[in-house]
Amino acid sequence: MEGCIFCRIVAKEVQSKIAYEDEEVVAFHDINPQAPVHVLIVPRKHIPTLNDAVEEDQALLGKMMLVAQKLAKELGVADSGYRLVLNTNRGAGQSIFHIHFHLLGGRLFHWPPG
Ligand code: 5GP
Ligand code: ZN
Repeated sequence: MEGCIFCRIVAKEVQSKIAYEDEEVVAFHDINPQAPVHVLIVPRKHIPTLNDAVEEDQALLGKMMLVAQKLAKELGVADSGYRLVLNTNRGAGQSIFHIHFHLLGGRLFHWPPG
């Protein structure tokens, strides 16, 4: 989608540090990391928020979680612990309206989150 920064990253029009990519999913390191491991996992398809996902996105969303699991292992946080975050709409802190999981790890996380 025109003007979407994550679509531009997926299209490689904007540079990022890519951690994983396949025909459906791209993962890249967050520009402003909140933990030693902070990777964003996005679909190539532009879906603005989780509210916009439809039945046909089911496998894609599941795949994003398995990519997170694979990256957690590769980046060495699978055993110590990691958090997957999906912010939906502004009240939850979503600032980029192209659906993404945050994979956060490498430090201690508290609950409830802020
Ligand atoms: P949200 O607030 O929407 O859940 O998360 C958006 C995330 O995207 C933020 O953690 C922010 O640091 C990250 N981000 C925003 N713009 C860019 C960018 O151009 N490149 C990368 N790598 N991360 C970005
Ligand atoms: Zn997009």
